[in-house]
Amino acid sequence: MNPFLKEAQELQERLVQDRRWLHAHPEVGGTLPETVAYVKKRLLELHCTPEEICDSGLVVLLGGKKEGPCILLRADMDALPMKEETGLPFASENGCAHSCGHDMHTAMLLGVAALLKAHEDELRGTVKLMFQPGEEVFLGAERMLQAGVLENPKVDAAITLHVNGLAPFPSGTLSIADAGAALASCDSYRITVHGKGGHGAYPSQTIDPIAVAAHILVALQQINARELGSKDTAVLTQGSFHSGKAPNIIPDTAVIEGTLRTFDEQVRQRCLKRMEAILTGVGAALQADVDFTVLGGCSPLYNDAAVRADALRYFRELVGEAGVAEKHGEPGMASEDFGNVLARVPGIQVGLAVNSAAEGAQYPMHNPKVLLKEEPLYIGTAAMAYLAKRWLEEH
Ligand SMILES: [Zn+2]
Ligand SMILES: [Zn+2]
Repeated sequence: MNPFLKEAQELQERLVQDRRWLHAHPEVGGTLPETVAYVKKRLLELHCTPEEICDSGLVVLLGGKKEGPCILLRADMDALPMKEETGLPFASENGCAHSCGHDMHTAMLLGVAALLKAHEDELRGTVKLMFQPGEEVFLGAERMLQAGVLENPKVDAAITLHVNGLAPFPSGTLSIADAGAALASCDSYRITVHGKGGHGAYPSQTIDPIAVAAHILVALQQINARELGSKDTAVLTQGSFHSGKAPNIIPDTAVIEGTLRTFDEQVRQRCLKRMEAILTGVGAALQADVDFTVLGGCSPLYNDAAVRADALRYFRELVGEAGVAEKHGEPGMASEDFGNVLARVPGIQVGLAVNSAAEGAQYPMHNPKVLLKEEPLYIGTAAMAYLAKRWLEEH
């Protein structure tokens, strides 16, 4: 057995303890006071020096004693606003749930800190650990970028790992999707049409925001139908449309909310620009003011070909051919705000199977009943730590 894997296996009990504490204490969004306090306490116990560079964003530096590049390893720490229904003895009781496995990501990155601390003198260059809040709301990665997570020292490559509870591979398998776009961008937005309310009998005395919003809904279809090239993908979904309270009253406003998803940053920016122009234009033509607010968003996630090839090689050294899978085919329409980091530095997202349909898993991630196996935690920990150490050796 690879000595790194063996050392990680010896940490398994501690990984499970950390995971269960985090699992029982989920926090949502960009401010995670209890989670951050726990992670800081654990890092201090490991003789690391965490620095909170922005609200709930922690950075730890390891190595740096030998000259070399800097590789960043990231874990997201936030949960989802849903009531957990797993029935686990350590299930959350506070109305939020770690149904996306970010408790596992955080526990594994703590494991990486422990593992690499023991090898700190051997590291050629620096490993930077990034513990971020607010992934599910697409604000944490960008907040840490703005706070300078890629500087001092300058980051040369960046890696994140996501667990998968309905994986097409056996538990413990490490996977990497094809180079190029692996996950879509996502922007959620609100369109507010300001009309002028009045009596349903006298529409000429009003500006009917529902009628204007209906024109906007149709006009937005033009982007997909006529404006995008045949190879460009954009999924535009209006998920909510609210206006009015009674059949005989013309309301003042109508509000549409939706999401835009693309695989290309240029397509994303072009769609957002065209959406705004269409809304404003339709509003002006029909005498209504229209506001367009992007509520949050992230870039598509791109896997870098060179980092991917290196990582696959290191993983095979670590766990053997059978423990590694290359994911081919269509990129996923889901999103991950680490895309914002990978838009600036080369890197990859690694997958770790923590359950599969063949092993009895029934529920996908983000389901309140999703059950994730803890046995592979040490494999994810070893993979991140070993990848970092080997990449620094070779670059
Ligand atoms: Zn999620
Ligand atoms: Zn997630």
